[in-house]
Amino acid sequence: MCGIAGILSNGNDVVQDLILAGRAQNHRGKESAGLVVGCGGLYQEQKGMGTVEQVFGRNGAHYLSGDVGLVHVRYSTAGGSLLCAAQPTEGTFQGKQFWLAHNGSLVRWEKCARECQRQGYQFTTGALTDRVASISDSEVIVALISLSSRTTFLEAIQDVLSRVEGTYSLVLLYDDVLYGVRDATGNRPLVIGRGRGITGIFSESATCTVLNIQREDEVKAGTVVEVRKATYPEQCHWRVVGSVPFSASDTEKMTKPCLFEFIYFLRPDTKFHERRVQLVREEMGAELWREHPFKADLTIPVPDSGNAAARGYAQAGSLLFHPNALFRFHYSGGRTFIELHDKRDLGLRIKLTVIPELTEGKSIVVVDDSVVRATALKRVAYILRTEGRAREVHGRIASPPYAHPCFYGIDTYRIAGELVAERQRGDIAAIAKEIGLDSLEYLSLNGCKRSVLRVQGDRLSLDNFCDACFSGNYHIPVK
Ligand code: SF4
Ligand code: MG
Repeated sequence: MCGIAGILSNGNDVVQDLILAGRAQNHRGKESAGLVVGCGGLYQEQKGMGTVEQVFGRNGAHYLSGDVGLVHVRYSTAGGSLLCAAQPTEGTFQGKQFWLAHNGSLVRWEKCARECQRQGYQFTTGALTDRVASISDSEVIVALISLSSRTTFLEAIQDVLSRVEGTYSLVLLYDDVLYGVRDATGNRPLVIGRGRGITGIFSESATCTVLNIQREDEVKAGTVVEVRKATYPEQCHWRVVGSVPFSASDTEKMTKPCLFEFIYFLRPDTKFHERRVQLVREEMGAELWREHPFKADLTIPVPDSGNAAARGYAQAGSLLFHPNALFRFHYSGGRTFIELHDKRDLGLRIKLTVIPELTEGKSIVVVDDSVVRATALKRVAYILRTEGRAREVHGRIASPPYAHPCFYGIDTYRIAGELVAERQRGDIAAIAKEIGLDSLEYLSLNGCKRSVLRVQGDRLSLDNFCDACFSGNYHIPVK
């Protein structure tokens, strides 16, 4: 999971806007942050480990300047959590530099990487040996474009993407032109925004709001858009310049947005497939009430990711609701799911506390958006009983059991054995016991998808989602 952005201006410096875009999307990954910026085909980069604020300081990066650039925040999928894998990633096409920022994951890319190595390409993120593949999948795209013999950069992008499989939203910079690309399944978000003399491509529409520009459109699934400079005072313009095909083995040729983006990853103020995420999550909570009603003394969310679903659940059941019975301390850093695993326990201790006067002696329903490893929910159940002196603690989860690893952009394939639903083989009573809950219920898969469909937006159907982590049905073969 990563956040990407590219911004182009008619002659004004875009560094501060890039940093702001990176910060607005920092919830999508905080292992590393990187920025490349320049003009006239000459670019400078800066990358580092940590959040955008940690890497670029409170006041930005005054030594960088330029009117076009990319920013990337990374949560490692393929490749290690290493500085060399921080993006944007640099390549060379016909003697000129280009840069790529990638959100998503390629699958079965080792053959392509091997072919690049055979042609003499030196990967900076690692080497492909028979046993170890430490290379970042994003660098495989860069390598293939660098080795391409196509005439134009656009043709090279299209040719390369017809040869790889997986999920991707991409922003590329070449010769002062920005390119935005979304895979044909539309698995990851990507939008275009314009205003204040800048035009940009962003992972999340909420970034446009933060930058005070208009979100104009989504980059449609399977298309390539370009953003070029115009002569002042005209704004830089963007247009669709081509398409990318479905990968050869993608049997179900349809849009497959990531269901988990709706459930957890996206900002609630973002629109994805034209649906406001806050409303979708409230609807998931309401549907959870219809499927698994439980009238306790008090209903509360696991903050912050469970807030919207808990509100929907309590509203649908006209329940006594308190949004702040658990206190989330916001100075302790970002989300725990996307933190490296060994830091999570300590992080949660700092992050979550209970207000015992609100919970003492009561039966509590605690609503969360999802349960992946269950670290957070275990802590919640524990502190509600001990410090909060609750009588009963019941869990209601606004998504199905997360029982299968994701190979399309979230590194749960690397934590096999840590998914609580997988470990307990889907036995919900056993999961409840492990977490320390008096009862536990999950929203059904169809109920979860129906909640998305109920909110107005792009035409989608129940078949139009990637739900592999819930169903085990991988629409792009992973092996
Ligand atoms: Fe999203 Fe799950 Fe599909 Fe991964 S497997 S893309 S997390 S829905
Ligand atoms: Mg959570």
